[in-house]
Amino acid sequence: MNLNKNDYIRLLNKTHFISFRPITWILNKFNMGAITFGIIVFIDKDLKGSVGTILHELVHVQQYYNYWFVGFIPVYLYHFFRGWIVTSFHDAYMCVPFEIEAYGYRDGSFERVYNEWRYV
Ligand SMILES: [Zn+2]
Repeated sequence: MNLNKNDYIRLLNKTHFISFRPITWILNKFNMGAITFGIIVFIDKDLKGSVGTILHELVHVQQYYNYWFVGFIPVYLYHFFRGWIVTSFHDAYMCVPFEIEAYGYRDGSFERVYNEWRYV
């Protein structure tokens, strides 16, 4: 995936970052700090300053656009449960191509875009 500055702004403007304690509490129980459903990102309050986490979740938002909600969820779960057979629950998500893409995605220019967007 290749995202540019305009993509980042578009994704940031469409995405709702929600720090809802009951949900982030459950996420923490699974060693997760954030989870994305379409344009909704439930995220630990403390992680809103984590540029790497924000970028990771924005890659997921774009994946939802590419695959649509009805495509993303089944493909994600298929690979997750297939991975769970050969590894552990906690490692299974790294068998999901969406995660491999999101974890592999790097762009040093994102931090400046995010901070400008965040503090305007
Ligand atoms: Zn992810």
